[in-house]
Amino acid sequence: MGMQTVLIATANQGKLEEMQALLADLADAALVTPPDVGVDIEVAETGSSYAENAALKARAYSQASGLICLADDSGLEVEAVGGVPGLYSARYAPQAKASDADRRQYLLAQLDRKPQPWPATFRSTVCIAVPGGDSYFAEGECRGEIIADERGEGGFGYDSIFLIEGLGRTMAELSMAEKNQLSHRARAVEAAKARLRQLLEPDV
Ligand code: IMP
Repeated sequence: MGMQTVLIATANQGKLEEMQALLADLADAALVTPPDVGVDIEVAETGSSYAENAALKARAYSQASGLICLADDSGLEVEAVGGVPGLYSARYAPQAKASDADRRQYLLAQLDRKPQPWPATFRSTVCIAVPGGDSYFAEGECRGEIIADERGEGGFGYDSIFLIEGLGRTMAELSMAEKNQLSHRARAVEAAKARLRQLLEPDV
């Protein structure tokens, strides 16, 4: 079997960089990004689970590109506010054009009067979509707590207010290589890799 092209199906730069690093050691795969293959689509995340949204994205990109696609849908679930923002993590804030910083501030404002600690879980579901074929799923989670003061410059999204359980550091205080050892997305992508290897080398 020769090289096959695998498209990392996301428009989120933080996710893209992490997934490129996580998948870099896949033999037989040439990794490409949406701009590499001239795909510029927006997928409405209308599903009612991470798996449904990951599948919507992976399938839409696979249809647009004709390539095997891998998409992640992820979110942060904070116990003290009933598990939100969850599925709506990317859209959580009242303003129309909110930034990651606006969303962190909005979450902290919701938690303001709630007793600490504020336990939270990052979740990721990865979907691999084969053009004209099946879809495969893998999940990962990472536990921790939300802290009121931002720490660290790395990562994206809610990383700087997410203190990792048992580590005493926020996600944003880790290098990408360190985050990729333990994050929800790293766990989901690692689990998805076994399936991807089978798809890339079907004779083995
Ligand atoms: P979606 O999967 O495109 O719906 O977006 C997931 C959203 O969850 C991101 O935009 C972030 O706000 C948040 N999120 C997911 N994974 C991470 C992470 O690794 N660090 C920080 N925030 C994350």
